[in-house]
Amino acid sequence: MTKEYTVTLIPGDGIGPEITAAVTDVIKASGVQINWEKQAAGAAVLEKEGTVLPRRVLDSIAKNGVALKGPITTPIGKGFRSVNVALRKELDLYACVRPAKSLPGIKSRYENVDLVIVRENTEDLYAGIERKIDENTAESIKRITRGASERIARYAFEYAVQNGRQKVTAVSKANICKFSDGLFLEAVRTVAQEYPQIAYEEVLVDNLCMQLVINPENYDVLVLPNLYGDIVSDLAAGLTGGLGVAPGANIGKKAAVFEAVHGSSPSLAGQHKANPTALLLSACLMLRHLGEIECAQKIENALEKVLQQGNVRTFDLGGSATTEEFAQAVIKQL
Ligand code: NAD
Repeated sequence: MTKEYTVTLIPGDGIGPEITAAVTDVIKASGVQINWEKQAAGAAVLEKEGTVLPRRVLDSIAKNGVALKGPITTPIGKGFRSVNVALRKELDLYACVRPAKSLPGIKSRYENVDLVIVRENTEDLYAGIERKIDENTAESIKRITRGASERIARYAFEYAVQNGRQKVTAVSKANICKFSDGLFLEAVRTVAQEYPQIAYEEVLVDNLCMQLVINPENYDVLVLPNLYGDIVSDLAAGLTGGLGVAPGANIGKKAAVFEAVHGSSPSLAGQHKANPTALLLSACLMLRHLGEIECAQKIENALEKVLQQGNVRTFDLGGSATTEEFAQAVIKQL
């Protein structure tokens, strides 16, 4: 008998509803049985429910253990706190995993990128410990703990072992943030000693950025504190074809939320132009997490065929196909 799954679906806002609809269509066509439990979150529910992240959303994810999420807008400098950050914190989704791999048929500056970003997801400047001292002065506190740093380091090394990876690189700015990044590095070093079979190296984040644009193929698994992880994720997406093709996962001990690296891209919203590839690849990570390896592989193969053939592409990859036309092309290959 075919297995059935119940998965929370957060369509999000901006381009979110368009790309989530396209992706759920592809998943349906692949044959895997998923009952989607749709949960709205973000600015759209604020007025009605008094919060951007209602309890029902968290309860649904906690119950199902797995969610697929579209992007959600976070206003800059004012308004509510990021739903994305709150979700990660509330469900303790401590590991943000973002593979950056060259895709066949996608022209970028490099052909052999195959690295994985493992970003700490619960602390650092993302904790939002900020205050305005006066009209002209504000400060943010960068909180790093040994516990969270060791936990993410262990995740990175375990990931390396389980996925046949050779090397873990710890990224920091410990020359300047001596206490906070210093503690992060100390914690990663301690964990590294438990994995003598995995090569270990350290690099400062500014140097890493330069190295990545010169020799991205030198990197394998990168482990970073939250903010550097955020920034380097976009850089890595740029190495492999852009945000339209960069997938991600937020993993905790009890739940996992799969979402693209990109945001809600308000300027594209409603135009049916956005590339659903990043969310589709995130959904494939989700299917692998559920144990549906064959199905994930089938979708990835179909996607690769469409990208390689090159006649159906969204605008970001030089084409003119709509989100839905692209999804239909993938479905046809299935
Ligand atoms: P963005 O990722 O939305 O867009 C950056 C650039 O990439 C834009 O040019 C955009 O058009 C392009 N792009 C992004 N996704 C694309 C896709 N699928 N296909 C084609 N092109 C794509 O980043 P932003 O503009 O800085 O952020 C917009 C909003 O999204 C902000 O409110 C931000 O806080 C939020 N955000 C949410 C998440 C999340 O929900 N996890 C992540 C990042 C940003």
